[in-house]
Amino acid sequence: MIEVKNLRKNFGENEVLHDINLTVNRGEVVSLIGPSGSGKSTILRCIIDLETITDGDILIEGKNLKDRKLKKEILLKTGMVFQSFNLFPHMTVRNNIVRTLKLVKKSSVGEAAKIAKEVLEVVGLADKIDNFPSELSGGQRQRVAIARALALRPDILLFDEPTSALDPELVKEVLDIIRKLKNERITMLIVSHEMNFVKEISDKVVVLENGKILEKGTSKQIFENPESHRVKEFLNTIY
Ligand code: ADP
Ligand code: MG
Repeated sequence: MIEVKNLRKNFGENEVLHDINLTVNRGEVVSLIGPSGSGKSTILRCIIDLETITDGDILIEGKNLKDRKLKKEILLKTGMVFQSFNLFPHMTVRNNIVRTLKLVKKSSVGEAAKIAKEVLEVVGLADKIDNFPSELSGGQRQRVAIARALALRPDILLFDEPTSALDPELVKEVLDIIRKLKNERITMLIVSHEMNFVKEISDKVVVLENGKILEKGTSKQIFENPESHRVKEFLNTIY
């Protein structure tokens, strides 16, 4: 589904990703963990083409992001949920979703409104359809952001610290939605510091440090029997 091959990324003179290789297969949940500044967000941003890669290749369903002609088609297959929700504050929940569908998929208003209702049901917020983001809790806003990503029917969803901006009591409702999406076999690539959640939900875990992959393996391997001393140290400090 996603193949990242020998990815390098420089910001000016500074190489922040060195030779990253990772694969996300269909139906899999893969998590990226590692200290702050290790390059997790940059990898996600490269995958959705928010950053231009310096070297290497990113393939989505076998198609190379470098292929200008295919770029739009490729990017329609991915959806991203950010730490900071990024909802349009002056639009209702419904219109946040309708507007995005009109912009990205050129959907008609009628069709988009129907999809908005469906995806809000998935995240348990059908009753908030006419509310504005400011009338919702942080957890509810993030669930709207997830619904908006789902509305585009992506083949893969990327999450960049989806619960980091939330008060602790609101974290669970967002994680529960991601659990539900896993049950529906949605392919996901997740960056999160919620280690218990990462351990539980991930098929594979990739540990990064200073722009390099320290280790990758199944959730069990990484959390119960990591090979790398640095991975052990990292898990000891935060888990
Ligand atoms: P993480 O998400 O793991 O905390 P990031 O991917 O945000 O790490 O950052 C990786 C490194 O790249 C950091 O050293 C960061 O300072 C640097 N970096 C990220 N974005 C930029 C940018 N737009 N310009 C310059 N340096 C950046
Ligand atoms: Mg980050």
